Amino acid sequence: MNSNHHPLHVIIFPFLAQGHIIPTIDLCKLFASHGVKVTVLTTKGNLSRFHSPLTRANELSTFLHPIQISLIPFPSVSGLPENCENMATVPPHLKSLFFDAVAMLQQPFRAFLKETNPDCVVAGLFLAWIHNVASELNIPSLDFHGSNFSSKCMSHTVEHHNLLDNSTAETVLLPNLPHKIEMRRALIPDFRKVAPSVFQLLIKQKEAEKLSYGLIINSFYELEPGYVDYFRNVVGRKAWHVGPLLLNDKNVNTFDRGSKSAIDEASCLSWLGKKSAGSVLYVCFGSASFFTTRQLREIAVGLEGSGHAFIWVVRDDGDEQWMPEGCEERIEGRGLIIKGWAPQMMILNHEAVGGYLTHCGWNSSLEGICVGLPFVTWPLFAEQPYNERLIVDVLKVGVAVGVKEYSFDPEERTVIEAGSIETAVKKLMGDDEEAEERRRRAKELAAMARKAVEEGGSSYELMSDLIRELEGLRDRRNK
Ligand code: UDP
Repeated sequence: MNSNHHPLHVIIFPFLAQGHIIPTIDLCKLFASHGVKVTVLTTKGNLSRFHSPLTRANELSTFLHPIQISLIPFPSVSGLPENCENMATVPPHLKSLFFDAVAMLQQPFRAFLKETNPDCVVAGLFLAWIHNVASELNIPSLDFHGSNFSSKCMSHTVEHHNLLDNSTAETVLLPNLPHKIEMRRALIPDFRKVAPSVFQLLIKQKEAEKLSYGLIINSFYELEPGYVDYFRNVVGRKAWHVGPLLLNDKNVNTFDRGSKSAIDEASCLSWLGKKSAGSVLYVCFGSASFFTTRQLREIAVGLEGSGHAFIWVVRDDGDEQWMPEGCEERIEGRGLIIKGWAPQMMILNHEAVGGYLTHCGWNSSLEGICVGLPFVTWPLFAEQPYNERLIVDVLKVGVAVGVKEYSFDPEERTVIEAGSIETAVKKLMGDDEEAEERRRRAKELAAMARKAVEEGGSSYELMSDLIRELEGLRDRRNK
């Protein structure tokens, strides 16, 4: 670092959702470990999600500058209750109002940025106006959306060739990508299906991207080399892969990561401790997914029928109508149901876990990759169907459960029958050659991930490059 200048100061403002806050905390720690002064910006209702992991990181690490948290007021919107400052606490029918409030954060953000005048600001998804404000103030801005290269490339080719409008075939080939990627047309993410307020934010995102200096991506080169190159050369945007972010902090508390766990640590570990290595399937659909009662019943029957041990995380909505008669008794000792927030990283890290049924959210997928697990894939919305293609077709570490369409609305989705779930789980957890090969590949990916973040590794080096580039921008701006 050039001693004639103040330390590089970066402000990071993530979208107010668990899947964005968790990797942002990891990103803050990575910047801080490189000597950067970091301020993370959020609202009061989200403070607790940052406070304890960042306090812990500041205490246990030797950061030159402890990570700071700043707050801006969450706007009041008629009809949106006070506790709705995070996607996880917003019921589906209030999502649109929540996004209205998110759009209104622009005003307090402008005042904050003027006052703090950092060297760079990192914008979370749905907060694209950050680029407009930063550009007015001549502050470089970057994007951090919490997704990977392949999903961005797939989405680019779908848009570029207007595949959703130009094709009526049941299955569509996504042209010109590094691999042959075919998707059911109905499963291709169609962002026109989101609420109008969200769609508007996504349109603005596209426009504001032109003002962004580039993207920080939570991935590593060796995982998706063809897509990293495609993104830079064909999509034509600057991007730095600096992940897997979660592997950078050896002191991370894997138990209460993200939220307070609904199960105590000792009973979870004791349950897992009684299972043989690789015998347990972990089933979780992230922080923001909902299912119909009918679908939950099918999952219960499918998991029971698979004969394998499992941990299943179910969002607790108080309605237990989905539990099939006598199921709880029959699976006693073999199936553990966690209602609410699970200590996912702690569970995934346990040697008893041998497979992961996931909704293909990028954080969850990357967490599974980092611990060397193969997957059953069950994408629901956002860019999850693209991540399924990466896991199944490119990395070849997944078995698709057979999701038919892309939808935010649980009522709109075709029910996946218990039989399909049972078949996919048996295939994944089985011991034939195919299953063994998936396991072998998954372990290989985990080893590559660890290497990428070590000194000299692809992500480590690119993070150093990013910081040098930001310091150069700071110096030019200060001249
Ligand atoms: N997560 C967790 N416990 C849960 C559910 C989710 O720790 O019960 C964490 C998970 O480890 C991941 C994040 O929440 O880091 C979910 O992010 P992802 O991108 O996978 O999905 P999203 O929630 O955004 O759909």
